[in-house]
Amino acid sequence: MLLQLKQISKGYGKSGAHSFRPVLKELDLELEKGQKVAIIGPSGSGKTTLLNLVGALDTPDSGEVMFNGTNITGFNSTQLAAFRNKNLGFVFQLHHLMPQLSLWENVLLPLLPQGKVTKEQKDWAEYLIKKVGISDQRNQKPSEMSGGECQRTAVVRALINKPELILADEPTGALDEGNANALSELLVHLSEEEGVTLVTVTHSAELAQKMDTKYLLRNGKLEKE
Ligand code: ADP
Ligand code: MG
Repeated sequence: MLLQLKQISKGYGKSGAHSFRPVLKELDLELEKGQKVAIIGPSGSGKTTLLNLVGALDTPDSGEVMFNGTNITGFNSTQLAAFRNKNLGFVFQLHHLMPQLSLWENVLLPLLPQGKVTKEQKDWAEYLIKKVGISDQRNQKPSEMSGGECQRTAVVRALINKPELILADEPTGALDEGNANALSELLVHLSEEEGVTLVTVTHSAELAQKMDTKYLLRNGKLEKE
């Protein structure tokens, strides 16, 4: 098992205060390596909150997050950052590319903390940008690219570290239907090819239907669809 959430609870505000807002309530989730999972649910149901916990961007109020048998719940922020960098790739609804950097520089950005980028890593980046059809745009800045091209760049950036797990939060949400479908195809195809586990929050029935498992987030818990 790659990932296990055990009895995760998370809310916002001061615990015990009248204003405290519970969002996730003793939620359980188990993911096998290579599994592709869609999480759907109405706006405000806690999908992003859940992804942030899985992605070690936030910590639960109670419960445990196990990754490859290691309990990461007790990690400090330095350990969490190292964990994220080694194991995870993120794709957000809005690409979060650096506006002052070119496509090529944006793609290599996650590798910078390690120091020098190796030839092998550059070849991998090259392979990926060709594969998703953006290699001609390599010197362009995000403002000079279309929404679909930016989102494809974000997918390549998420894969650059060869992560075990990709977390995507409404990755097609800002795209028109044609580009959304193309991006869904890419995400799923690349995940399968690389054996990467994929968790995607989505409103898109198209994208959700390409996953192995669909969960509905309701009342703070996941229900299998
Ligand atoms: P979704 O992604 O499903 O739309 P979110 O996880 O973003 O839902 O939010 C779940 C609930 O938690 C919402 O009611 C939202 O207003 C609240 N919430 C999210 N983030 C915060 C925060 N940082 N501080 C306070 N409330 C938050
Ligand atoms: Mg959200």
